[in-house]
Amino acid sequence: MANGFIDEFKEFISRGNVMDMAVGVVIGGAFSAIVTSLVDDVIGPLIGVLTGGIDFSNLAITVGSANIMIGAFIQAVINFLIISFVIFSVIKAFNKAKALTAKPVEEAAPVTKICPYCKSEVDIAATRCPHCTSEIE
Ligand SMILES: [Zn+2]
Repeated sequence: MANGFIDEFKEFISRGNVMDMAVGVVIGGAFSAIVTSLVDDVIGPLIGVLTGGIDFSNLAITVGSANIMIGAFIQAVINFLIISFVIFSVIKAFNKAKALTAKPVEEAAPVTKICPYCKSEVDIAATRCPHCTSEIE
């Protein structure tokens, strides 16, 4: 029971996915810091200028005794849209780069041809059609 568990764990580690996953997590963390900085330090102030210096995050509506922090919600939505857009752009650029470096798919040489007399599919090297027995090139 215990050995089976350890063996399974060894297999899980040695599969290599764990290392890929760890790299992904580390890069994801670093990337998240870049996106946060982009939103907070670059795009946030720009939106502030566009909206005439209104700071959304302090925008609140008081309903009875409840304080609706509408500004914080708007900020979260904007952040989400920006992050989605940035990630979309990065993935798009990444796919484009991948498509550029990928080897062009070689078209497979035809293995059959069409007999001009009976229109049947015959082997590319055939000199006589097996269907209508006509001589073909
Ligand atoms: Zn034929």
